[in-house]
Amino acid sequence: MRLVLLGAPGAGKGTQAKKLIEKYRIPQISTGDILRKAVTDRTPLGKEAKSYMDKGELVPDSVVIGLVKERLAKDDCKEGFILDGFPRNTSQAQTLDGVLAMMNTPLTVALSVDVDKDDLMKRLTGRRTCRGCQQMYNVYFSTPKKDGICDKCGGELFQRDDDKEATIKNRLDVYEKSTAPLIDHYKKKGILKSVMGVGSIDEIFNKVCAVLDKK
Ligand code: AMP
Repeated sequence: MRLVLLGAPGAGKGTQAKKLIEKYRIPQISTGDILRKAVTDRTPLGKEAKSYMDKGELVPDSVVIGLVKERLAKDDCKEGFILDGFPRNTSQAQTLDGVLAMMNTPLTVALSVDVDKDDLMKRLTGRRTCRGCQQMYNVYFSTPKKDGICDKCGGELFQRDDDKEATIKNRLDVYEKSTAPLIDHYKKKGILKSVMGVGSIDEIFNKVCAVLDKK
């Protein structure tokens, strides 16, 4: 299965992707995760990307498209993949269509995870991540047993720089302007499916699987 996950920041794409990896045994390609790692490792790419990410802006297409092309060419993508956070605008979507057409492996499905704007704000401002194992928590919905400490590995929980309120507002605006039009792009191609991203993680996952298993 070759899957694109669509949805606003905070819709839970990454969380669902992690569960899909286990079920379908295909890798998740998260451009956000790749870029954050480059920032942490202070690579030249990370240094370039950081200023855009801190403002909630999109990193230039020239940078992101190269990363995705390189990743899709790896052996573990032969049986399929889950793209999470890419494409983010029409130009990225068209480039992806072109690359996959050349490889004779078009997308199977684009799945949109839909969540209300008020809910998104709470999910993003409340989101905390473990420095050790990347497990996610939320100070409103899924708190750790000990404040600021990961239940799984005892690591320190931190708030992503771009999960601060001003940046979040911009990320949601950028989503509306640049990424939401992709819903139409995939509808026209006849591969769009959507689920409401409300309820527990497992409830949403069941809805996601019900849609994907029909494909
Ligand atoms: P995410 O974790 O997917 O919300 O991504 C975090 C940040 O990384 C975004 O706000 C952008 O600055 C950058 N980013 C991630 N994916 C892309 C993409 N496909 N195109 C441009 N910028 C991206």
